[in-house]
This record gives sequence, C-alpha cells and structure tokens, in this order.
Amino acid sequence: MNTTTTIRLATYKLFYETFGDALQLDVPLSRYTSARVGGPAEMFLTMYDAASLQKAVELAYTERIPYFILGGGSNILVSDDGVPGLVIMNRAKNISYRHIGAHVVCTVESGANLSSLARQCIGKGLGGLEWAIGVPGTVGGAVVGNAGAHGSDMAATLRAATVWEPGRGVRIYNNHEMEYGYRSSILKKEHGREIFRRVILTAELVLTPESVDVLTARAEGFTAHRKQTQPGGATVGSMFKNPENYYAGYLIEAAGLKGYRVGGAHISEKHANFFVNDEDATAENVRTLIAEAWNTVREQFDVEMELEVELVGKWDFEA
Ligand SMILES: Cc1cc2nc3c(=O)[nH]c(=O)nc-3n(C[C@H](O)[C@H](O)[C@H](O)COP(=O)(O)OP(=O)(O)OC[C@H]3O[C@@H](n4cnc5c(N)ncnc54)[C@H](O)[C@@H]3O)c2cc1C
Repeated sequence: MNTTTTIRLATYKLFYETFGDALQLDVPLSRYTSARVGGPAEMFLTMYDAASLQKAVELAYTERIPYFILGGGSNILVSDDGVPGLVIMNRAKNISYRHIGAHVVCTVESGANLSSLARQCIGKGLGGLEWAIGVPGTVGGAVVGNAGAHGSDMAATLRAATVWEPGRGVRIYNNHEMEYGYRSSILKKEHGREIFRRVILTAELVLTPESVDVLTARAEGFTAHRKQTQPGGATVGSMFKNPENYYAGYLIEAAGLKGYRVGGAHISEKHANFFVNDEDATAENVRTLIAEAWNTVREQFDVEMELEVELVGKWDFEA
C-alpha cells in the first residue's frame, strides 16, 4: 500500500457513483479529532450502518485505495498535512440486547459512542461497562485499543467481535482471538504497518443485571475521579502507555516538563501525560512535545516510553 498515492479521477467517480453525497473531498480532520488538530482527508465518507461500512472498505480494498477508519478520533494525532486516500468516519450505532442465562449480551455496531452506551446500560440495570463512562470515542476504537479504566477494560467485557478482513471477508473473533494486552490487541498491532487493516463491524459485550442505583453510584464515583485527576480541553487522553513499574505521567512530571509549551500546545499542569491544545496548536506542536517528553524521560530515567496514541497521516519523521 502506498500512502502517498493521490486518487485518480476515475476512483473519485466510482466512489461518488456508489456513495453519492456521503462522499466529501478535502475534509479537515481537526473537526473530528479530540485534539482538534489535523489536516484534510483526501476523500471522506461517513457511514451510518455496519453494512455500509463494510461496503466502503471493500470498495477501497478492491481499488487499492489506502483507507483509515475514524472512530471518535480520541486516540490519534493526525498530521497537519492530512491523510492521503480514504478516511471513513464510522457512525454505525445500532444496539440490541438478548438474554443468555444469567447474563445479557449487547450487540453493538462499532460506531456507537462508548460512553453513551455505558449510560444506556446503566439505565437498563446492566452492569459491566461503568468503567467506560467518560472514555471518549467509539466501541470500535475501544475494541481495537483495549480501552480501559478503573481496573477494567474491553478485554474483560468483550465476548466476540465481527471483523472484516481484507481480501477474506467477515469472520467472528472470540475474546481470546483478539490477543488482548494492556492497551493492545491483534488489530492494534497492525498500526504503523503499510498494510490494509482489519475493521471491526460489531461487538458483543457481556453484561450482568444489577441495581440501577448501585451502577449509577459507581459511575458517578468514576466520573468524579476523572474530573479530579484529568484536565479538560482538547487532548488525546494519555499520550504514552505506562511503562512497566512506572506511570508515564509521573515520569514526565519528574522530568520537569509540567506546563512545558510548544506553540499552542502544552503539557498539562494537572496530569503530565495529557498534552493540551489551547485552541491554535498545530499537530507539529504536539508532536514536538511528544519528542521532548520522550527524549527527556529517556535521558533522565533511562526509560523508553511507548506512545499510546497513534500518529496518522504524513509525517516527516515519527517520534
Ligand atoms: C479526555 C480523554 C480521556 C481518555 N480516557 C481514556 C481512558 O480512561 N482509557 C482509555 O483506554 N482511553 C482513554 N482515552 C483514549 C480514547 O478515548 C480511547 O483510546 C478510545 O477507545 C479511542 O476510540 P476512538 O473511537 O476515538 O478511536 P480513534 O481515535 O478514532 O481510532 C483509534 C484507532 O482505532 C482504529 N479504529 C477505530 N474504529 C475502528 C474500527 N471500527 N475497526 C478498526 N479499527 C478502528 C482507528 O483506525 C485508529 O487506528 C481518552 C481520550 C481522551 C481524549
């Protein structure tokens, strides 16, 4: 896959004939990312159901057009030069529930907002997703990145996922086949490689009936903790994974970088693993902060931190 390819007129036409006005050109991705930075997507499609999402990636794959699935854009940093090829914004959000023994299985399309789903489950008296209250983004993004908080994560919640595999079609992955680790999965391991990636279409989550009051109280506790410990504003959440035996935020703070600024972006005073865009930052400002934090922590503590966030699009070089 050549990510510098620009698309031929015949390909635009084919996508336009297939998807009509759902297709847009040169759409600034800063509108759709939580850090509010990022240049344009060459082609941009918004899909509202899993079948259309599958159709879009299948067409891109057949035409050998590089594609990128955009969920909530809350775990990516898009370059100022944007993304060549096709960006598919996933807004497929159908949800259904069924009883299996003592549990309830929620089948949800991957573009559903995770935090809203967690709220819906709490309202129905279904426990298991309270940890996801306040985690931005989609179910698909969370399944790929094994999002988690407050001692739980997607690995503890997911029963199975329907996955479209390039050139092979749709297959169901059970929890074990996702190869989950800390903020990692078999799909996340594809990131940074020049390949056509697998796509999550739907997920099955296992929930357990519990009192609405108990679930609500638990979720409120989590929300209060989040407010107390994390900054607001435009961020991508935790920039680096916690290295073994350390907290990334603690290392960056101990390196003296709290409040460190480059252009319109700074390292949060409240939590040093959060990098904040003060409205006018460029993606390059944020990337420079990443490099500064990574280098300083390595020099001072001999620890090489790993990015939790994915750098997407065209970059001169990567941190
Ligand atoms: C304020 C804030 C707080 C946060 N707190 C937490 C937290 O507590 N815990 C935590 O784990 N994370 C946290 N995050 C990070 C982020 O919310 C999660 O990583 C989230 O799961 C990302 O989902 P997304 O839909 O935004 O993914 P995106 O950022 O849109 O995409 C991330 C990656 O997943 C891929 N992807 C998305 N959907 C699909 C799909 N359907 N199929 C295949 N690939 C797909 C994308 O192509 C990309 O490679 C936080 C972020 C912010 C901004």
